[in-house]
Amino acid sequence: MKNEKVILIGAGLCGLYTAFLLQKKGIEVLLLEANTRIGGRIKTITGTTGVTMEMGATWFGNQHSHILEVLRALEIPYFKQHTQGISLFETMSFVPPQKFEISDSEEPSFRIVGGTATLIKKLISEIGIKNIKTNTKITLIKEENHHLIVTDSVGNSYSADKVISTIPPNLLVNSVIFEPNLPENFTQLAKKTHTWMGESIKFAVEYKTPFWKEKKYSGTLFSQASIIQEMYDHSTADNFGFALKGFLNGGTSVLSLEQRKEKVIAQLTALFGLEAKDYIAYVENVWREEPLTFQPYEQLVLAHQNNGHSLYKRPFQNGKLYISGAETATQNPGYMDGAIAAAKTIALEF
Ligand SMILES: Cc1cc2nc3c(=O)[nH]c(=O)nc-3n(C[C@H](O)[C@H](O)[C@H](O)COP(=O)(O)OP(=O)(O)OC[C@H]3O[C@@H](n4cnc5c(N)ncnc54)[C@H](O)[C@@H]3O)c2cc1C
Repeated sequence: MKNEKVILIGAGLCGLYTAFLLQKKGIEVLLLEANTRIGGRIKTITGTTGVTMEMGATWFGNQHSHILEVLRALEIPYFKQHTQGISLFETMSFVPPQKFEISDSEEPSFRIVGGTATLIKKLISEIGIKNIKTNTKITLIKEENHHLIVTDSVGNSYSADKVISTIPPNLLVNSVIFEPNLPENFTQLAKKTHTWMGESIKFAVEYKTPFWKEKKYSGTLFSQASIIQEMYDHSTADNFGFALKGFLNGGTSVLSLEQRKEKVIAQLTALFGLEAKDYIAYVENVWREEPLTFQPYEQLVLAHQNNGHSLYKRPFQNGKLYISGAETATQNPGYMDGAIAAAKTIALEF
């Protein structure tokens, strides 16, 4: 058992799972989270009918062995994404959508029963809520003798033997001051490291009935012609709550919520009929407006650019500061699987 105190910055999936692994090694951990909400890019909204709607991470597949292993170990059930029925592909606004069916032999995507937040809640209960401090935005990490001193935006300081940051790299180097400075090549790399889905807009529409399924549609849509670019059925595993959920065209971030909602409902009505207007709730999340996730890049950065770069493997501040998070993983970086893989890699260092 090691007699170390470790501070983890960020209580998203990576921070939580790292804390879980370190506690298992007998290490004292404190998670410092800027938001009032725990989960980071995992954000599940529960509608009035009980349907859970993912504004962040949702799917994983058989290739995501790290997250599958964690779900099995924590006894969290998951289920196959519904894809049966007629799926639609809109190429142009002035021609009817093409219809196609997704074969059962396609590699399946899975969702967590009760929503992705089930995993977050389980990890919180394992770690203990007393070890997680929310509303604590770190702005300074300073090396002092054999310790690191971490200071938040209102001047509170915390001392630790080691610190692990799980803040997305581009946000980290643009929002936290380091004393001494991090090496310039690392700072430049972090500024050019893509944060997965940081630019995206997620939406969901809650309904009383799955009227699209009753009309033999799967709920799957791909469109190059309208506001909804990609959409799937988002009904619950036991089929008691119903919703459609997907991604909006990123350019519509300049519109208001009301304007986007109006366009979404119009597109759904055109595709599935008048029942689409009889929705219970419309919810959305514009991630590029989330300052604890997204920081505009100084130059064009491509999807997954520099994710899993070798510079993320080495600690700084004389071996006391580790840079982690989904984007640093060498396997499936940017994804939940990457967040778990990164946590496992760092935990091996302790
Ligand atoms: C819209 C969307 C859809 C997605 N869909 C999928 C999917 O279907 N499948 C999949 O596998 N992955 C998906 N992802 C990616 C997945 O959400 C991430 O891989 C994973 O949640 C990242 O976890 P993390 O802990 O590394 O980072 P984050 O979840 O970003 O956690 C970082 C934490 O740091 C906190 N923080 C930031 N700054 C500070 C500070 N200064 N001080 C203290 N705390 C701070 C943040 O509030 C946050 O809680 C999606 C992401 C989004 C946004």
